Amino acid sequence: MDLDALRANLQCIRQLVGPTRRVITVVKADAYGHGLRQIAALMMQSGTDMFGVANLAEAAAIQSVGLGWPILMLGACLPAEVESAVRDDVRPTLSSLTEAKWFSQAAVRQRRQVRVHLKIDTGMSRLGVAPEDALALVQSIRELPGLELEGLYTHFAAAENDVRFSKRQQQSFDRVVQAAIETGVRPEWIHAHNSAGLLSQPIGRCTAVRPGLLVYGLLPTTHRRIPPIVRDSLQPALAWKCRLSLVKSLPKGVTISYGRTLRTKQPLRVGILTAGYGDGYLRSAGERACVLVQGRRCRILGRITMDQMIVDLSAVAPVTSGEEVVLVGRQGDETITITELADWTGTIPWEVLTNITHRVPRVYLGGHAA
Ligand SMILES: *Cc1c(COP(=O)(O)O)cnc(C)c1O
Repeated sequence: MDLDALRANLQCIRQLVGPTRRVITVVKADAYGHGLRQIAALMMQSGTDMFGVANLAEAAAIQSVGLGWPILMLGACLPAEVESAVRDDVRPTLSSLTEAKWFSQAAVRQRRQVRVHLKIDTGMSRLGVAPEDALALVQSIRELPGLELEGLYTHFAAAENDVRFSKRQQQSFDRVVQAAIETGVRPEWIHAHNSAGLLSQPIGRCTAVRPGLLVYGLLPTTHRRIPPIVRDSLQPALAWKCRLSLVKSLPKGVTISYGRTLRTKQPLRVGILTAGYGDGYLRSAGERACVLVQGRRCRILGRITMDQMIVDLSAVAPVTSGEEVVLVGRQGDETITITELADWTGTIPWEVLTNITHRVPRVYLGGHAA
């Protein structure tokens, strides 16, 4: 993990959104597989304004690194979690009056003020209150003791490719925000933009943005024009490497790996890799998968197994066991991106990242690694 790249990416996002808007850095799912504690420490040093997490365990992990940073829980709190969310000062996402009442009661019991973010469901049909019910809920939140409406937010469902729908979502959200403000509330945090939203939708009256993928230096797949600062300065922070554990020659006519899906047509020099699907390298990458050895693309042969893969070394100069192999990242003049690996497996960069298992040690370079 290149911490300097992460730091630069946050700066790049700041440049994109302007000095008056705040950044909620999304660090759910172990900071997209990069390691939550390390990334949280770096983001604290780099001056994120808030963290976005999926659950209370992630919030606690951030607080174990440093106290005082605002944390917004993007998931809903279970009834059994409400007391501890209040105790730990985690901002909950509210979608309903029921949740608002739980938090109010817990706030009163603990003699605390709870800062809440109300989510408006403008088209994702996941968390959030329907736009037509939002104002009544805003009113209830104002009246319930112990609650402070700190934020209003929504989430785009198709910012990558459906500009019209995103625009409708934004208009619907804007109407709620405007109406709420007219009733006298002043939520400080008004936010909607995930990474794809940031690249394609005007930020308008939002006071904050909520990027995940961009922070880690990756672009969502989009047909939209990428803003030049993003295109020129975003850097992937993650490289994924393993080693050759054995190099050997196979004779002509033998089959390779489980299921015997491949047969050698001539003698073939192959290497055995120290990574497999047990490390999160998706087995479905199948026949399209390549890795880098000595800066050259080398094909994965036969099925990917749990702990090992077999790679065709016929394109590279003789190498020995111990040689570094790049699964994702740069080596010499060649690069394999997370997005490319996602394409091979028919999935999205987010899944590739969060699928890398804990067997793979995370190594931190640059920055002030915690
Ligand atoms: C995950 C998430 C984000 C960040 O999404 P990216 O596409 O990775 O930028 C933002 N908001 C919410 C509510 C999320 O769940």
